[in-house]
Amino acid sequence: MKRIGLFGGTFNPIHFGHFLTLQDVKAEFSLDSVFFIPCAIPPHKPLTMIAAAKDRLEMTRLTLAGYSGFEVSEIELARAGPSYTIETVLHFKNTLPKQTKLYLIMGIDAFMEIDSWKAFKNLFRVIPMIVMTRAGQVSESTDLQLRKIENFLKNKVAKGYCFSTSKLHFTHNQMQPVFIAKVKHVNISSTNIRTLIKSHGSVCNFVPAEVESFIKNRGLYL
Ligand code: ATP
Repeated sequence: MKRIGLFGGTFNPIHFGHFLTLQDVKAEFSLDSVFFIPCAIPPHKPLTMIAAAKDRLEMTRLTLAGYSGFEVSEIELARAGPSYTIETVLHFKNTLPKQTKLYLIMGIDAFMEIDSWKAFKNLFRVIPMIVMTRAGQVSESTDLQLRKIENFLKNKVAKGYCFSTSKLHFTHNQMQPVFIAKVKHVNISSTNIRTLIKSHGSVCNFVPAEVESFIKNRGLYL
């Protein structure tokens, strides 16, 4: 039985915060592969400073090239209109072998906005989630982030979630489990990178060299 992670994002641009944390998740949850899924039109982000989908796709490819167990999916770019995660998840569920174990992976910031996503309660019914805690401007302890997730689940998704310390996860009798990943905190965001590029700063510590060159050659984010 294959274990597969689905990791969607704008990847505008992709950075080490995405890749290093996903390496941790892949190891911790013994995933056979992880699909990075760049979205076409992000429904939840302002459309300023968004690189073309084909450029974001290419930067994602450049980052993952040569790493086995990491793949890029064009599924959301091939679909017309905004990218809705529920449709992506159902696509993978319907096309992969029935016994495949799928996980939807996201950072806590994305998770805390999930109640604005299309059919979000359905997502909790159909696929187990893995939420990565994330370093922020104001660093919050993992305990505090856990409490936020617990309150969110109970107030916005469904009453009755229980916390289990055995594998750090929340369970519910009608919903799929929500796991918390103990990833290393990499305090990088695409927003920081775009700001740095605009002010002609170096981003060599935040993205692979191939991505840095690609951004320069295409004149992105200036
Ligand atoms: P932006 O700054 O433009 O909002 P971002 O850096 O958050 O972008 P996205 O492409 O929007 O990047 O993120 C895709 C997914 O990766 C989201 O689930 C987000 O929470 C997660 N993520 C991004 N950066 C990190 C990080 N440094 N650590 C953990 N998770 C991250």
